[in-house]
Amino acid sequence: MSIEQQINELREELRQHNYNYYVLDAPTISDYEFDVKLKELQALEAKYPEYYDANSPTLRVGGQITKNFETIVHEHRMYSLDNSYSKEDLLDWETRIKKLVDGEVQYTCELKYDGASISLTYENGELIKAVTRGDGIQGDNVTNNIKTIKSVPLKLKGDYPPKFDIRGEIVLPHEGFIKMNEERIAAGEEPYANPRNTASGSLKLQDSAEVAKRPLECLLYNITGNNLGIETQFQSLEKARAWGFKVPEVSKLTNSIEEVLEFVNHWDVERHNLPYETDGVVIKVNNLQQQEELGFTSKAPRWAMAYKFKAEQVATRLNEITYQVGRTGAITPVANLVPVQLAGTVVKRASLHNADQIAKLDIREGDEVYVEKGGEIIPKIVGVNFTNRPEDSIPTVYASNCPECGAPLERKEGEAQHYCPNDNGCLPQIAGRIQHFISRKAMDIEGLGGETVTLLVKEGLIKSYADLYMLTKEEVIPLERMAEKSAENLINGIEKSKEIPFERVLFALGIRYVGETVAKKLVRHYKTIDALMAATEEDLVNVDEIGIKIAESVIEFFAVQEHQELISRLRVYGVQLEIGAEQLANQTDTLQGLTFVVSGVFHRVSRNELKKLIEDNGGKVSSSISSKTSYLVAGDKMGPSKLEKANKLGIELLTEDAFLTKIGL
Ligand SMILES: [Zn+2]
Repeated sequence: MSIEQQINELREELRQHNYNYYVLDAPTISDYEFDVKLKELQALEAKYPEYYDANSPTLRVGGQITKNFETIVHEHRMYSLDNSYSKEDLLDWETRIKKLVDGEVQYTCELKYDGASISLTYENGELIKAVTRGDGIQGDNVTNNIKTIKSVPLKLKGDYPPKFDIRGEIVLPHEGFIKMNEERIAAGEEPYANPRNTASGSLKLQDSAEVAKRPLECLLYNITGNNLGIETQFQSLEKARAWGFKVPEVSKLTNSIEEVLEFVNHWDVERHNLPYETDGVVIKVNNLQQQEELGFTSKAPRWAMAYKFKAEQVATRLNEITYQVGRTGAITPVANLVPVQLAGTVVKRASLHNADQIAKLDIREGDEVYVEKGGEIIPKIVGVNFTNRPEDSIPTVYASNCPECGAPLERKEGEAQHYCPNDNGCLPQIAGRIQHFISRKAMDIEGLGGETVTLLVKEGLIKSYADLYMLTKEEVIPLERMAEKSAENLINGIEKSKEIPFERVLFALGIRYVGETVAKKLVRHYKTIDALMAATEEDLVNVDEIGIKIAESVIEFFAVQEHQELISRLRVYGVQLEIGAEQLANQTDTLQGLTFVVSGVFHRVSRNELKKLIEDNGGKVSSSISSKTSYLVAGDKMGPSKLEKANKLGIELLTEDAFLTKIGL
């Protein structure tokens, strides 16, 4: 078999596995086997770049940077839909339709997914571009980012037309959304408000590798184009499915508005069991010939109608407002409710966000309040039934002291949240920091869980994560529910954590805004904690992708004497506070102080490997050319505008070979 055949076969195989996993939800090989094949393809593509393919499955991992999203005019306008809210609205719509078309009318019913609309263009079975809805007439070119969404086919199967647009919705399933928020909270960052805004924000991220990490999905529902050989909407859904698109199975062909309403009523309840957020049903005249006769008004098609579900809302009594303290000291007010059934679950608590929100809605204990479950996971209070307010009702006075330690609360200028400043004497903050330290992505201490940490803190055995390394088996055994064996596991787990690499230790320290990725970047740059601690704010912001917010937070953290003491103790106990020898062996300072822009296709190494080589050798990678650029590493098919700019600024060009020679390869 020739190399080209081998590459093509691997691509085809990986495409099929992607399809099985992300579209059909029925994988036939393990993730590990998939990764092995992907790596094999990556290696072949790096070695034989002459077989480059812009739609290869290896491009799913992202890495392409888009600084400015190009505006593209939609070839076929993306209309919005008229909304309806009742049976009467739908019957009126049907009357209007029957005046304009002859014969029987059938309707397709599909769920309306709450996400970010997208239009994908395919030519000869390959994804050419992906454009956001924008204002319906023109949107942003987000192709690089969309390519990383695994359920978007990059190549189609079957008998597709030579050219068409397909529209759909980019959604973030509940499960993935919750996981992303857990990770943000772990990094001390504000959680995202709801899946829809997060999905839509993801499309405009500059680094497609970041998009690739997000569990986005693309659900398709409408094909547009000329001479497609399709006669009905229902048929178009079936065709799109056959070509490899993820088209929700929840769709139905109906013969009357009565049947439409049956579908609506069924899904108004059932939708809560779906993995995504939905906010209504889209009803379309099925026959495309009839659709054409009906045409469009100035803003919407006459042949389609959205039926909006009522936002799930119930009234219940607010018993008490309590306050929770997070790891960073942030205070969250919580509404404790008389339990009530809402959207398929029993709701007992709802978020009140902050003091402003309580004041704005004038929420008081004892009130009858309206609770709603919108796009958010945690239900929220949207209003108060003032007519039902008890006569002896008292306006809410926001907590002035920490509910856990009694310290007076503080509120920083411009921030909505109150904070407990007593970080060394406040149990949830102490326990929270240690819980973060031991968590799976940080020190991953086996045999120690969150509840045990709280117990250890309560019993006065530990006050900081450094204290963990002083614990003895004898101290731990007397704890509630602690047997000899589990005490031993706990101590062994702590001992083993001394091998955890520095980048994870740095994440574990719990510096605000220093998540996993930032920790990695800082470690690659500074290599030791001493170097990082000695860095000035100016040094820090000069590190690639480190902004002022992170820089300030790092400086602030290391300026605190207790933190310096913690680090000294961790060092004494043998925790890794510098980069490992093996990792370091691949790193030099050859390119120290130099900034590179990488463009085009390379032969001996992939573009990502090239970037890693620059960073490993002390250089900085930038995505755009400026007067600060030292070299432009130019591969094949480099963009002409980059070359022009480099020439204008007098920036030296390096070929791939010249670059590799420079670092001794
Ligand atoms: Zn406190």
